[in-house]
Order: sequence, then C-alpha cells, then structure tokens
Amino acid sequence: MSTFEELGLKPEIVKALRVLGYENPTEIQEKAIPQVIESDQDLKAFAQTGTGKTAAFSLPILQKIDLNSKEVQAIILSPTRELAIQIARNIEEFSTQLKGFRVAAVYGGSDINGQIRTLNKGVQIVVGTPGRTVDLIKRKKLRLDSVEWLVLDEADEMLNMGFKDELDQVLQVTPDTKQTLLFSATFPKEVDRIARNYMNNPIQIDAGKRNSGSDQVSHEYYVVTDRNRYPALKRIADINPDIYGIIFCRTRRETQEVADKLIQDGYSADSLHGELSQAQRDIVMKKFRKKSLQILVATDVAARGLDVDSLTHVINYKLPDQIESYTHRSGRTGRAGSTGISIAIVSPGERRKLGPIERIIGKKFVQMQVPDGKEILKKQLLKLIDKVKDTEVNESQIGEYLPAIQERLADLDRDELIKKFVSIEFSSFLSYYANSGDLNDLSRSNSRDRETRDRSDRGDSRGKRRDDENMSRFFINIGRKDKLNPARLIGLINEQKISNNIEIGQIEILDTFSFFELDKNFEKETLSAFTRDSNIEFEGRGVNVEITEKKRAGGGNRGGGGGRSRSNGGRDHRGGGSSSSSSAGGDRKKKSFDRDRGNKDSGSSREFKSGFGRDRSSRRSKD
Ligand code: AMP
Repeated sequence: MSTFEELGLKPEIVKALRVLGYENPTEIQEKAIPQVIESDQDLKAFAQTGTGKTAAFSLPILQKIDLNSKEVQAIILSPTRELAIQIARNIEEFSTQLKGFRVAAVYGGSDINGQIRTLNKGVQIVVGTPGRTVDLIKRKKLRLDSVEWLVLDEADEMLNMGFKDELDQVLQVTPDTKQTLLFSATFPKEVDRIARNYMNNPIQIDAGKRNSGSDQVSHEYYVVTDRNRYPALKRIADINPDIYGIIFCRTRRETQEVADKLIQDGYSADSLHGELSQAQRDIVMKKFRKKSLQILVATDVAARGLDVDSLTHVINYKLPDQIESYTHRSGRTGRAGSTGISIAIVSPGERRKLGPIERIIGKKFVQMQVPDGKEILKKQLLKLIDKVKDTEVNESQIGEYLPAIQERLADLDRDELIKKFVSIEFSSFLSYYANSGDLNDLSRSNSRDRETRDRSDRGDSRGKRRDDENMSRFFINIGRKDKLNPARLIGLINEQKISNNIEIGQIEILDTFSFFELDKNFEKETLSAFTRDSNIEFEGRGVNVEITEKKRAGGGNRGGGGGRSRSNGGRDHRGGGSSSSSSAGGDRKKKSFDRDRGNKDSGSSREFKSGFGRDRSSRRSKD
C-alpha cells in the first residue's frame, strides 16, 4: 500500500490529510490521484459512495490548481445540495495549507445573491448542483471558460434525478481542452451516453467490483404480506435496539406516513423528503448526524449527500423502482471500514425483484424470518439488564433518598425486586408482544424459485392461514349445524354493509359457532352493525357477534379459536373458551405506548434510548 506522499501529493496537502486522520489512501484514491496528477486524459471511475472518492478527485486537482489565478479552474457537479456542501467542506479541509485558495458551493433552495457575492470574490473551485450551476451560467455570474477540470460526481444519480439537460448545458460551455472526471456507482445507458459524447478516450478505473455493493454490507430480506410490512419493520427495529439507520420509502407520502407511525409508536425517528423546507431538512439531518435520532425515514433523493459513516442498517421499506438505486441505498451503510446490513422487506410478489439486484451487487440476499415476540422480548430484556449493569450510580445525588427507599422496599427480596422493576420497564413491550403472531408470509415455501402466484399475491386471503396484526377476530354464534359455510358467512357479513370492500380474513366454521377476521379499522362498525339490528337471524337463530382474542401462531388457541375477550352486551355463547379478559392487541398496545410517553421522559431529549430502540421522549420537530 502506498502513502499519500508516494502518490505525488505535495507536503501542504499531506499535512492537512494527516490532521484529518487520513493515514493511507483508499483503493480509488490510490488509482485516481497519480493518474490525474500525471495525465490530462479523461477518467471514468466506478466508485461507490463511502469509498473515498471525494478525495480521489479533489486532491489531484488541488495539487495542480493555480493559486495565483482567481478564475474558476474546476467545476464539480453533484446531484444534491447536501452532497455539494459536503464536497466543498471536504475540499476546504484538504486545502487548509494552500494560501490563496478558495472554494464555493452553489446550490438551489438558498439565496442566489450570497452565492454570487462569493463567486465575485474569485474562487478556483466551484461545487454545484446542476440546476443552480446552469442558472448562474445563464445570469453570467459563473464563467466556466477557464475550466481545466470538470468532475461529474454520482453521474448516475444526477441522471436519475432528471438533470440530463442541465448536464448537457454545463458540458457545452466548458472548454474542449478540459479534463473530465466522471464518478459513478453504476453505469446505465445514460451515463455511457455522457461518457461517449463528452469524454475523450477516457481511461477507466474500477475501485472494487464494478456495480457491486461494498463487501462490508450483507443483504437480507423478509417476506411479509403488504399489510404486515409496517409491523415487520417495527419488529426489525425492536430486535436491533441499537439500530442507527435509514428506512427508504418510494414516495414522499409513504415516507411521511411511515415516519409518523414510528413517531407515534414511540421510536426515535423522523422523516426526510422533498416536501419539507430546506430549513426543516437541515434540522432533521443535524439531529440524525448527532445521533439524537436513531431512524431516518427518507426518499432516495432526500437522503443523497447525507454523509454519515456509521449506519448499522439500511432498510428498504419498499424496493426502489430503479434497481440501480438499491446500490446507492445499501451503499449508505458499510462505509469507511465498518460493516452494515441492508434489508429489503418484500411482499411475496416482489420477491422476483431480488434476482436482478443480486446480479448487480454480485451478492446473494439471505432470507431472514421476522422475529417473533419472544425473541424480541428476550433481546430487549437483556439489553435493559446490560444497561442496568453499566449504569453509573451517582451516590451524592441519590444518597439522601436511599434510607427512605430502603425502608419502603424492606419487605421485598432480591428476586421480587428484580421482577417488579423489569415489569415496570417492560410492560409496554410485554403487552404489545403478548399476542403477537408470526408475520412471515407462510403462504408458500421459502424458495424463491417457485414463481407461481399464490393467494396472497392476489390479495385474496380467505381461508389462508394468516396471522395478521391488522385483522380483528370475531366470534359468531352460528356454525355448521346451522348450515353455515364460508360463502354464506361472507354473504351475511356483506349484508350488514359495514363498509365497501372491507377485507375479510381467515374464516373458521365449527359445529355450533364460528370465527372470522375483518379489517381491524372496522372493529367498532362491525360490532355495531351486528347489534344495530338485534333481530338478525340465520336459519331461524338469533345472531350474536363478539370480538375475540386472536389465535396465536404455532400453538395456543387452536381449534376452539381462542377465548372471548370483549363482550358486546354480555350475551353468552355456546362453546368457545372464555379464558381471557383482555382487549384486542391493537388497542392495548396503543394505550401502553401512550401511557409510556405520558409518564416518562416528558420533554427531555436523550441521546440514543438504549431500551427498545424507541425514544419515548422523541417529538416531531419540523421547526
Ligand atoms: P467519500 O466516499 O468521499 O464520501 O468518503 C467516505 C468517508 O471516508 C468520508 O467520511 C471520508 O472523510 C472518509 N475517507 C476518505 N478517504 C479516507 C482515507 N484515505 N482515510 C480515512 N478516511 C477517509
């Protein structure tokens, strides 16, 4: 491995790098720096984010720049404002020892006059987003006729974002004699077009496998039905209490919805998308960089340029439309030598999208099972215990209260104390996961080879074994003996006109009574529809419907279908258990989280809640 001196960089630059802690060049730096220092030939580099490409193109330019001239000698185009700012900041850091050097970042969403004033002072390097750069060129405030270097950073992403025309315009106003350096993680046709049309016999550099993801990233996927996507996401977060990651969604709306739900459920999360103002985005990014937020829910575009090296996870809540974007998403983790996990949550129908991605990243996805409640509870509990063990006790602060505490607790032995204390801390988790089922899509084998679409793909879950958190389970006091069958039960439900297109889940017809599942959102409407007209009859029998406890996956209340849990009038029914008196999972979990938020941490902002991957004090801040 060579050193930065050996690559030909001057002492002033090497000194600045040492201050930054750059000891040895990365692969892309080792290949690009001497090439650009020694040759004017255009260069096309395959490089992922996080490989050190900013220094790879900036350092040789800084080495050769004429510090006595105040003309713009290098223009660096980047897809987003954040990335442009980041690159300019990096260049400032690399150039601290270069007297007379200036760099400017120009980007949209910010006062153009301030940027014009900076340009007027004379800068040697401009880093810009394509739109603002073209705007400044048109206003004749940015002249690129002395440019010797043009850098296209993340060229694929700029084209993905629709900057084709702007790139063409900038490329046309720069001198033919310039050296063009093009960096891209992927090379779709459009990037090749730019290379063909605007580059002169470029030398090609590959840092790592072309198009491939970082070796530091492992790729996992979970298969769940669409309606279990969000509950599965929560479980993934819960089984990883120290998660520090980005959840990628496809649209702004979906991003906001997922973030809102996570915040409401007490997670340390916020959203980042184009509908937020720049000031709002800046606040969210700052909080995330400082790790005051554990989870950022973002669109692809908004997350570009967010420079965070230590992400543990990238989660594809939905896979991107463009498969190349997967490489960009997963490249946000596993950076600067650390390892990371990129997760895809897919519906059975989306599984076929994984193959093409595997070919691009050159790696296989590993199927994971959505953890069950028990696993999560164990993980969280042990995390809590570790936290207790690691907590430093400030004797001087609590000393004076200890005698009173000791007196109150005198009757409790160690075991009882432990149990009580764990129960307090853990009540919300215990109740949330008490009746949790299996979220994995069980509708077909784990094999991705079977391409036959099954019922879940068509959204027809009737009769299929499912355990769906979004469904409520109802008891009805009629069964086979009353000539009830699934079709007649569906007919009976539809007659009540609960809602158009209400989804009916699992149906279980037993001898004298039956069970059915309906969309949880219509729980109240269902109960009131069946009680509204107390004369509903079926084959001469009065019909009675009550909400009942959900079946547990893999055991529990099989056959009998679970105990009655919430009565709608106290009428008794034949058969069936009546063991539990708890309410249905959905309400219960919400209440316990609300209670938690009310009781604890109100207002305070803790860094990284160690318990539960949730920040119960987290409040949405967009101001
Ligand atoms: P980049 O791909 O340019 O966004 O760089 C990714 C991260 O690696 C940034 O935080 C850089 O500061 C860091 N980095 C780049 N090159 C080196 C190096 N040679 N030694 C240590 N860190 C580096």
